[in-house]
Amino acid sequence: MQLLLVEDDLPLASGLKQALQKTGYAVNHVASGNAALHAVKVERPDIVILDIGLPDIDGIAVLKKLRVADKTLPVLLLTARDSVEDKVAGLDSGADDYLAKPFEMTELLARLRVLERRLSTVKTSEITIGQVCLDTLEQRVTFQGEELDLARKEYMLLKSLMENAGRVMTRPTLESRLYSWGEEVSSNAVEVHIHHLRKKFGNDFIKTIRGVGYKLNPEQI
Ligand code: CA
Repeated sequence: MQLLLVEDDLPLASGLKQALQKTGYAVNHVASGNAALHAVKVERPDIVILDIGLPDIDGIAVLKKLRVADKTLPVLLLTARDSVEDKVAGLDSGADDYLAKPFEMTELLARLRVLERRLSTVKTSEITIGQVCLDTLEQRVTFQGEELDLARKEYMLLKSLMENAGRVMTRPTLESRLYSWGEEVSSNAVEVHIHHLRKKFGNDFIKTIRGVGYKLNPEQI
């Protein structure tokens, strides 16, 4: 799950980023409205956390621009101003949810879980390929009917591959789903996770497309 955090208060942003990463999210941070619009264009995140008070373009204006191009991208607004007007303006502009500063981290995580759940119910919550079944709602994986315990990054990697079954996923694409910008990623991080997944699901489940990336073995799709 990749989050784009748009927040110009740098100490707050870095604290949020750290806490969110610890929970398993990949978090990219930008500090202005223009940077946010650019970032979304370059690579669509799964969820945007958008501060209203930004130095260049107001968060509400950013949201309106985002909505022109993308009606479904989940956006959670943050604001220091706990006014009814802001709340109404935000929701009218297409925000999915609204959180007034200061807030508790647990509150933010709860709101994100709701957005995540909404995302996964848009698609079907269960994907079954071969003998592997992944429930995106419960975040559970079973293999040959038995529940497996996967590390968070393994789960995210498996989810990306299963949601894109039949498509080759390049290494940079997979990395971007697992890691934040600037997060230290060893050059073989994806390979290592793939290796662990193969140990659990057998060598044939995920195919290596040499020099390009990975895809699920088409014979089982
Ligand atoms: Ca601000």
